[in-house]
Amino acid sequence: MLQLKNISKTYGQTMALKTIELFIPEGKTTILLGQSGSGKSTLIRIINGLIQPDSGGTVFFEGIPVTPQNALDLRHKMGYVIQEGGLFPHLTAYQNVALMAGYLGWSAERIDKRVTELAQLTQLPVDILNRFPTQLSGGQRQRVSLMRALILDPDLLLLDEPLGALDPMIRSELQTDLKQIFQTLGKTVVIVTHDIGEAGFLGDMIVLLRDGQIVQQGSLPELVHTPADPFVTLFINAQRSPLEVLTGNPS
Ligand code: ADP
Ligand code: MG
Repeated sequence: MLQLKNISKTYGQTMALKTIELFIPEGKTTILLGQSGSGKSTLIRIINGLIQPDSGGTVFFEGIPVTPQNALDLRHKMGYVIQEGGLFPHLTAYQNVALMAGYLGWSAERIDKRVTELAQLTQLPVDILNRFPTQLSGGQRQRVSLMRALILDPDLLLLDEPLGALDPMIRSELQTDLKQIFQTLGKTVVIVTHDIGEAGFLGDMIVLLRDGQIVQQGSLPELVHTPADPFVTLFINAQRSPLEVLTGNPS
């Protein structure tokens, strides 16, 4: 589905990514996990061709190298939810969701059918779609962002900290719904998060990044029980659980 070969990215003096090699399997959910500044957003934007890797690196999407020439077309097959949702404030939720389909010349009828389908999938009441983004709750906004990313029925779904700005109960509810949605769709999904619990709950595979490099790649049990580096354990234990606070024992 997706193969990253020798991906580096330098911004002036900052080396945001260093020789990343990664294979992302079809139909699975892969998590890009890491601290703020570890290069997660840079990696996701290189995957969809919004930014170019340094020379010598290539992203292969369905076997095709992503280039500045074909990135725009390939992005129609890659739904993308940017950090902070990125809905246009002057458009209604419906208009935000329908934007790309309208641009590609879909009929109003076809758009309406697809939007209704997606509202059902994301469990958003259809009448809410006439509101503007500021008139929606954070959770509703993220459901709309997801609908927008899914409108063209992409092969790949890229989500950059989709739940980052939500409070814990809404976040937990959306995690459950997202998992259900991914199972229903069977799509290849890549999600960025810094939350290890979210990573373990949603992901089939976790890719832990540190300073632009992959520290370990595997399931949550693998990261917990066979850490590839002391940093893996440090990272996991840094996220204190309420149980640990109560018992005084790291769980
Ligand atoms: P993350 O999403 O994991 O927080 P980013 O990919 O946003 O990390 O950033 C990785 C590193 O690259 C950071 O040190 C960040 O400051 C730097 N960086 C990101 N975007 C730019 C940019 N447009 N110009 C300069 N430096 C950047
Ligand atoms: Mg980021």
